[in-house]
Amino acid sequence: MIQFDHVSKVYPNGTVGLDDVNLTIQDGEFVAIIGRSGAGKSTLLRSVNRMHRITSGILMVNGINVSTLSGKSLRRFRRGIGMVFQSFNLFNNMSVLKNCMVGQMKVLKRSKEEARQQALKYLEKVGMAPYINAKPRQISGGQKQRVAIARALATDPKVLLCDEATSALDPTTTNSILALLKELNQKLGVTVVII
Ligand code: ADP
Repeated sequence: MIQFDHVSKVYPNGTVGLDDVNLTIQDGEFVAIIGRSGAGKSTLLRSVNRMHRITSGILMVNGINVSTLSGKSLRRFRRGIGMVFQSFNLFNNMSVLKNCMVGQMKVLKRSKEEARQQALKYLEKVGMAPYINAKPRQISGGQKQRVAIARALATDPKVLLCDEATSALDPTTTNSILALLKELNQKLGVTVVII
C-alpha cells in the first residue's frame, strides 16, 4: 500500500526531514511510527498524502508514484487518504453530523442524503450516534477525536493517517481511541498509520 524507496526530504532551508527512508506498509496493516521530537515522523506521514514533497527517492502509495501527481490527479489521490490531526480540526459552528457530511458533499460531490447516511454509519461505528446534533464545544476531546475519525472514514479512504491523534488526550482516552482505531482497522480493513 505504501512504499518508501530511498526517500529523502530536505526542506528549502536545508533541514533534513527524512534521510534515506526505506519502509513498506502492506494493505490492511496497522503501523505506529515512533521516535523523538524532530525525528521526522510528521514529515514521513505528510509525505504520504503529498502535504510535503519528497526531494529524492520513490514513494509509491496504492500503486501511484506520488511525485508524479499534480492538480486534478493530486486531488483525486488525496480523496483516497483520510487524515486525523492532534487538534481535531472540526468546524465549531457545525453539528457533529454536519461536520461528517460537508467534506463528502464538497469533495466527493455526494448528495446530502447519501452524505448523511454515510456519516451516520461511521458515527455509529465510533460510538458517537447519540451526539449527532451536538456542537464540538459540547463534547469532550476524546469525543471530538471520534468524530474526526468518523469524518475521515466517511470518505471511504484506503489509508488513514493519524498525526499525533492522541497527544491532546489523557491516557485513558488515548487508550480508547487507539482501541477504536485498531478495531476499525480490523473490521474495515483500512490501513492505519499512526504517529
Ligand atoms: P517529528 O514529527 O518527528 O517531531 P518533523 O517531521 O516535524 O519531526 O521534523 C523533522 C525535521 O524537519 C526537524 O528537524 C524539523 O525541525 C524539520 N522541519 C519540519 N518541518 C519543517 C519546515 N516546514 N521547514 C523546515 N524544517 C522543518
